[in-house]
Amino acid sequence: MENKSLFVSTSIAYLNGDPHLGFAMESIEADVISRWNKNNNIDTFFSTGTDEHGEKIHKTAELLKTSPKDLCDKNVIQFKNLAKELNIDYSDFIRTSDQSKHWKTVQLIWTKLVKSGDIYKKKYTGLYCYGCEAFMTAKDLDEEGTCPNHKRKPNEISEENYFFKLSKYSSQIEKLIESNELEIIPSFRKNEILNLIKDGLHDVSFSRPASKLPWGIPVPNDDTQTMYVWCDALSNYISVLDYYLNSDLYKKYWINSEVIHVIGKDILRFHSAIWIGMLLSIGEKTPDKLLVHGFLTSEGEKMSKSTGNIVDPFKEIKKYGSDALRYFLIREVPIGQDADFSKERFNSIYQSHLANGLGNLVSRVISLANKNNININSKIEIFDETEYFLNSKLEVLKLQMSKLSLHESIKSIFQVIDYCDKKINDIEPWKLIKVNPEKNKVFVYNMLYCINWISIYLYPFLPVTAEKIKNIINSSTSEILFPRLEKLK
Ligand SMILES: [Zn+2]
Repeated sequence: MENKSLFVSTSIAYLNGDPHLGFAMESIEADVISRWNKNNNIDTFFSTGTDEHGEKIHKTAELLKTSPKDLCDKNVIQFKNLAKELNIDYSDFIRTSDQSKHWKTVQLIWTKLVKSGDIYKKKYTGLYCYGCEAFMTAKDLDEEGTCPNHKRKPNEISEENYFFKLSKYSSQIEKLIESNELEIIPSFRKNEILNLIKDGLHDVSFSRPASKLPWGIPVPNDDTQTMYVWCDALSNYISVLDYYLNSDLYKKYWINSEVIHVIGKDILRFHSAIWIGMLLSIGEKTPDKLLVHGFLTSEGEKMSKSTGNIVDPFKEIKKYGSDALRYFLIREVPIGQDADFSKERFNSIYQSHLANGLGNLVSRVISLANKNNININSKIEIFDETEYFLNSKLEVLKLQMSKLSLHESIKSIFQVIDYCDKKINDIEPWKLIKVNPEKNKVFVYNMLYCINWISIYLYPFLPVTAEKIKNIINSSTSEILFPRLEKLK
C-alpha cells in the first residue's frame, strides 16, 4: 500500500430537496477515509457532488416557475454549505448539469458503449414509479404490488428506449465480486448482491423519450432521446477527473489508484452491477471497494415529512458542533448497519464521551502539566508501558482503518482516554506531587504525551477538535472543547 494513491467518493446527492442526515453521514465517512490516507502520505482525490437531472427536478422547477438549471443552482448551495459546515475536505464537487466535463464525459462513454455493441433500441413496456423515477420489476414491489418506497402502484408505460446489454457482463461481474477484486464491505452485502446476480442480470433501459424527460443529457446522434439516470449519474466518478480528455488526473487517480466508492445500501445494485458493466464495456478499470452504509432512522422510525421526525443536520451542527455530529455518526453507526438517531442517545454520547471523556481529560492533563511546570517540549522520558500501549493501539487502529471499520477505529482512539483516566485515578498526581515531585513530572508528561497522540490520530475523525487539542498543548492554555450539555442552546 506504500506510496499508492487513492480515489474516494461519496455518491452524488439528488438535488430535489434539502440535504439529509444520511448524506451527511456518507460525506463524513468518505472524509475520514480521505483524511486518514492523506495523513499517511497517500496522494488522495476525494470527490463528491450532486445529481441534478430528472423528471422531479423538471417538475419542481415548473411548479416554481423557474428553469431546472436555476433551481439546481439554488439547491446546490445547501449541499455545499453542509459540506463546509461538516468540514468535508473534498478535492472537487461534480455537478451533473456541468456541460463541460460531465456532459462531455457522459457522451463519450455513451459513444464507447455503442462502439462495443452494447446499446440497442427496444420497445419496452414496464412498470414505472414516478416517485422513484425508476422502472420496477415484480421483484421490487411489495406484497400488495405497490412501490415499497411510495406505497403506490407503479404505472404501466410503453416507450421505445435504448437499452444497455448488462446481461452480457453478468458472469464477469459475478467473478469480480466473488474474488473480492471488487470488494463489497460489509460482506453480508456481498452475499446479497451475489444472490441477485446468480440468475443473470437483465439489460437496463438507458434512455427515455426526450418528450418525457426533457431535463437531462441528450443521447449522441438522437435528439429524441435523453439519457436516463444510470449513464448520466454513475459516470460522475470519472467525469470529475476529466475522463473525456484522457487526462493525467484520470490516469493518476483512477487507473493507478485504489478506488473506493462510499454509498448507501439502496444504490448498491447500481454500483455493483450497472456501473461495473459500463466500465467493462468501455474497457476501463473497475473500482476496488464499495463501502456500503445502512439507513438512519429517527427516534426509531423512518424519517419522513409526514411523521415530522426529519433530523436537520444543520440544526444539530449549530447546537452540538460539527465534530460532535461527526463523532456520533461514526461511533454510533457500525459500518453497513442501519442505526437510529435519537436525541436522548446523542445527548448521552455527547455528555459522556465528549464533554466528560475527551474534553475533561484534556483540561485535566493541561492543568496538571501547568502545575508541574512542564510542557510537551520538556525533555522527559516516556515509560515503556506508555510507549507499548500507544504502539499497540496504533497497530490495531491501522488494521481497523485498512478494513474501513471506522466505528472500531474511533473506539480504539477513545480507549486511550480511558487508559489515561484510569492511570490518573490510580496514581493520584495531586498527591504524588507532594511526595515525589520528580516522579510526578514524569507521570504527567506521559499523560501529556498521550493526549498529544490522541490529537494526531483523532484528526481524520474530528479535525476541529484535534486542531484545538494541538493548540492547547502547544500553548499550555485551557479551552473548553465540549461545553456541558446544559450550556448548549
Ligand atoms: Zn417509488
